[in-house]
Order: sequence, then structure tokens, then C-alpha cells
Amino acid sequence: MPSQSEIDRLATAPVPAMRLLIDGAWVSGAAEPLPVLSPIDGTQLTTLASASAEDVARATASARAAFEDGRWSGQPPAARKAVLHRLADLIQRHALELAVLGVRDNGTEISMALKAEPGSAAGTFRYYAEALDKVYGEIAPTPRDVLGLIHREPVGVVGAIVPWNFPLMIGAWKLAPALAMGNSVVLKPAETASLSLLRLAELALEAGVPPGVLNVVTGPGHLTGEALALSMDVDVLVFTGSGSTGRRLLEYSARSNLKRCYLELGGKSPNIVFADAPDLAAAAKAAATAIFRNAGQVCVAGSRLLVERSVHDSFVAALCDATQKMALGNPLDLGTQIGAVNSERQLAGNLGFVADAQAEGAELVLGGGQALRETGGWYMQPTIVTQVAPGHRLFRQEVFGPVLAVTPFDTEAEAVHLANATEYGLAAGVWTANLSRAHRMVRALRAGVVHVNTYGGADGTVPLGGVKQSGNGHDKSLHALDKYSDLKTAWIQL
Ligand code: NAD
Repeated sequence: MPSQSEIDRLATAPVPAMRLLIDGAWVSGAAEPLPVLSPIDGTQLTTLASASAEDVARATASARAAFEDGRWSGQPPAARKAVLHRLADLIQRHALELAVLGVRDNGTEISMALKAEPGSAAGTFRYYAEALDKVYGEIAPTPRDVLGLIHREPVGVVGAIVPWNFPLMIGAWKLAPALAMGNSVVLKPAETASLSLLRLAELALEAGVPPGVLNVVTGPGHLTGEALALSMDVDVLVFTGSGSTGRRLLEYSARSNLKRCYLELGGKSPNIVFADAPDLAAAAKAAATAIFRNAGQVCVAGSRLLVERSVHDSFVAALCDATQKMALGNPLDLGTQIGAVNSERQLAGNLGFVADAQAEGAELVLGGGQALRETGGWYMQPTIVTQVAPGHRLFRQEVFGPVLAVTPFDTEAEAVHLANATEYGLAAGVWTANLSRAHRMVRALRAGVVHVNTYGGADGTVPLGGVKQSGNGHDKSLHALDKYSDLKTAWIQL
């Protein structure tokens, strides 16, 4: 763990005006640059270049040319592997700088960013560097006079659009398998979290990723992102973000070249506590962490707590106690456990959810308001609302902020019914000492991941993806390689 003084030194480093990376060169965008405001104190850190549709077209053309001439796609797997390992080394060498830059941009608490951002990104590049020369084609069991070969080929140009929470981690989940398979990439980071990904792109060039193979276009979603999603030169679009943007991307695909779209979307994940949980005190602490770390800006956050009625009141009391012990503060302080809300707009949206829940008859038992106003930044008190019913907006819609909805239940069947009663299906948690019940719940819950007697926690070896309107496709693990490769059959008469 770095020292606080090392962090403080990096926290005041000036940030130069940001540019686009197109064809290996850093260039200005043709559209109006955007101010980059730090959620920590509301001050302007720098400006972000905005790529126009023409800039995006140059980036996709560069990626296409790089793919076609084989400068990356045609390299032996061992050569690509060496470059990706070098990139992982560079990310590790610059880990603190990357983490601090990212925190100044998006407000995640530094203790979490250090692990989840450069740490995880470096691990992801290593994982796919190691995987890329262990992926074989197949020989099909055809009749004896025919040879059926199944080749696995890169898809070509990948467009990647990523959100503002965990930009390096989620960016690496897209970039590493895409590059490992030999594709070229055009990356579009979020407006409020582009800085660390632009630095990562610089490191990628230093590591030896050839010019044009990785392009980065920043700017507003409705301009830069839309141009990328409408491009006729993008073969596959991979996306993490909100459901409303995901819907638009599918439309853009239909209006352009029918590019495949893999969507990793939001969640309203149930964390279900049965009275027979092995350790209710530990479950209460974990339930607080599951929603309040990174101020609730975690896709798999346990944002709906379902508690068996017989322990509901005592559990909520323990939960409030655990929450009040969590340190809300400057994200750059090593002791902070709840950082800033990413933007003023996001904060206003979070507060709106609390007001609506109260108007609909739910009970506010903790927090509910803005915090640390004197900083000039955007912070929210960790907020717990009980008696949230399935009809309430807070039960059904993702807040993506530090607001926990609590609902009691009486039976296992009711818990399953409530858990599955939203359009989402990203994650879930179950706390029980009953092994049979745990397995029944894993089967019954419609979610991409079900945690048992823990919440959160995963690594690169297991896939992350949603069901229902939480998305399709998977990031992480060897399964992610499927998104970045095509199967081609060779049918050879012998
Ligand atoms: P968002 O959809 O607003 O933005 C995501 C990205 O899409 C940004 O880069 C944005 O610029 C771009 N974009 C916006 N409008 C666009 C358009 N019209 N065309 C093309 N691109 C456009 O989402 P966000 O607020 O940045 O991220 C929060 C959301 O992401 C939450 O719903 C969260 O649950 C989800 N998320 C999901 C996962 C997962 O793995 N499933 C992980 C993290 C976050």
C-alpha cells in the first residue's frame, strides 16, 4: 500500500489538456472540448478533446487499415503475448499514478481504486496474454472423405464504449481479450472518466502496440459514442453502461451494418438474508459494504436487501450501525470507504430517488441527504430506506448511488419472487446456513452471478454478465474470447 504522502504529492500534479489517439498520434478533436470537473471538490482538472463524427471515421479507418495489413493481427501469438505482458508491467509500474489520476477524475475511494483499477487491469492483460496462445481451432467429426476444420479468427475492428465507474478495470476487460485475439480497437471512454484510460493508451504505445491498433476517441456519448456505434467500419461493439444507452446501440447497429452488440448493463441486485444465516452480524457488515463502497456506483451493488421478517428489525439496526462506522470523505484519503458521487447530475438523481420513495410510503431510516457540501464536491450520505414495496420506483429502478432499499419477506418462495421481480438480472446474494436452500436459491435466482454467504468478490477466471435486461455476453474468463473471435469452417474434400 502506498503512503498518504505519495498520494498527496500526485494529487496536485497538473493535468495537461487531453487529446485523441488516432493512428498512433495524439491529435485535437474537431468538436468543442469538454471541461473535466473533479467530483472531489468541483474544480476543473483539465479539458477533454471531443471527437466529431469525422474524427471517429478517421479512427475507425485507421483501425481497419491496421487490421488489414496484419501489423498486429498477423503477428505470431508469442509476439502479441510479449507486448501485452509489457503493457501489464507498465501498468503495474505506474499503478499509483494511474489510480490517483482516475480518482481525481471519477471520485472512487483510493483504497478501492488501487485494487480494482490498475491492479485488476494489469491482471486482466496478463490473463489474456497467457490465454492467447492456448486457444486452438478444432477438427470436426466429419465423414472420412472430408476434412472439416474450424478456425477461430479475429473479428476485425472492435468498438468499445465504457462507463465512468472503474474505467481501467472495465476498459481492460474489453481491450485485453480484443487485442489478444488480434483485433484492432477504437475505445470510447466516458466523459467523466477518460483520463486514466488515455494514460493507459500511452502505455500501450510504449509497450509496443502498433499505431492504429488502439485508437481512443473521447467526447460526448450522443456525438462521439453515437458516431462509433453507427460506423460501417466497426464489426463488433462491446459496451458497458446504462440500459437506455444499450437500447440506442442496438438501434444504431440496425441502422448501420448490423454489427454485433454485446451489452453489459445495470442491475438492481437482491441481497437476501435468511434468519438461519451463519453469522448475521457479518452479513450486516457485508450488506453495508455491498451497497456503499464507491458510493453505490458499482454495477453489481447489492442495492435491494431482502430480509426474513423474523430478524428484519434487529438486522436493520445492525446494518445502520455498520454503515455509520464507514468513513465518508475525500476519495484520496487512504482511510475513506465511501468516496464521491461522480457528477452533480448523478447526485441530483440519487436524491430524487429518496424523495420519491418517501412520497410512495417507504421509510427513510438513515441518511438521505447531500454530504460534505463545504468541499465543493459531490457527496451523499449512505442512505437506507425500509418498507420498500415492489411497486415503488426504488424497488424497480437502478439508482447507481448509495441508496439501499430494504424489503421484508416471510418464506423462501416469497424471497425468490421478490428477488426476480425486476427487469434486471445481474447479481444476487444469499445468506443461509442451509446448504440445500443455498443451492435451491442459486438455481431459482435469475442473475449472472449469485454470491453465497458473501457479497461481491470475483476474479478474472469467472465470467461476469447479466440476464434479462442486465445484458448479454460476458466479460472476463476464457468465455470473453468468444466476443472477439469468429468461427470459420474449412470443408475440404479429401
Ligand atoms: P451511460 O450509458 O450513460 O454511459 C456509458 C458510455 O456510453 C459512456 O462512454 C457514454 O459517453 C456513452 N454513451 C452515452 N450515450 C451514448 C449514445 N447515444 N451513443 C453511444 N454512446 C453513448 O452509463 P454510465 O452512467 O457511464 O454508467 C453507469 C451504468 O453502467 C450503470 O447502469 C451501471 O450499472 C452500468 N455498469 C454495468 C456494468 C456491468 O458489468 N454490467 C459495470 C459497470 C457499470
